[in-house]
Amino acid sequence: MGDGFFKNSYSSKINAFLLIRIAFEGKKSELVRIIMEFPISKVLLRVKKAVRGFRTPSVTVISQKNDPFAVLVSCIISLRTRDEVTEPASARLFKLAKNPAQLMKLPNAKIEKAIYPAAFFRNKAQSLKELCKNLVENYDGQVPDKLEELLKLKGVGRKTANLTLILGHDKPGICVDIHVHRISNRWGYVQTKTPDATEMVLREKLPRRYWKGYNDLLVTFGQNICKPVSPFCGSCAIADTCPKVGVTTRRGAS
Ligand code: SF4
Repeated sequence: MGDGFFKNSYSSKINAFLLIRIAFEGKKSELVRIIMEFPISKVLLRVKKAVRGFRTPSVTVISQKNDPFAVLVSCIISLRTRDEVTEPASARLFKLAKNPAQLMKLPNAKIEKAIYPAAFFRNKAQSLKELCKNLVENYDGQVPDKLEELLKLKGVGRKTANLTLILGHDKPGICVDIHVHRISNRWGYVQTKTPDATEMVLREKLPRRYWKGYNDLLVTFGQNICKPVSPFCGSCAIADTCPKVGVTTRRGAS
């Protein structure tokens, strides 16, 4: 084998490398293009249609009472707890107490029994009592309607605070839970590592008119279609638009 073979072999390797690189760069730039131009308004409209008929998230159901206290308490009960448990657990508790003053007087055992089998029901019972005592002593028994004030309450994180603002006080907020965080990243609409970072990016780029409904839509969508593991991309209404960032296994043909 002469130098020519090595030369040809070497140059064909270079060519192959270049082709792969061009293809990769092409795909990458296509991905960047899709991400840059992600048509959020069109997508949310399609998601809205796609989730019709699925179960409404439990806190949204409870929010129909227009009572910030009910929203706050159900949010706390719902942490790491399935919707099927949260709704009846909240209803049992609200039969015993309708406001912070009543709830803070209940014995722990009664609260625990009412909210069981919610996850960490003993800790939640204790937290709820302390929270109610704080509301009575420092907030005149009312649930604050400012994010900063809500975040000062023990046991209230950004997710609960935002949801209480949106559903309890009908004020703008962006509630980012695991579904919102995961789906916004799969869409390439955000590129973030944590739900808090997702909230900050969404506050910058999501049009304000979508803030209130974003969580509600994406939770239902995430529970039923864009599931954490193996989403139903094959039958998804936005499969043609979604870059499916980070999705390694999926159901259906798409
Ligand atoms: S196409 Fe797949 S990853 Fe994208 S939103 Fe639909 S289910 Fe989720």
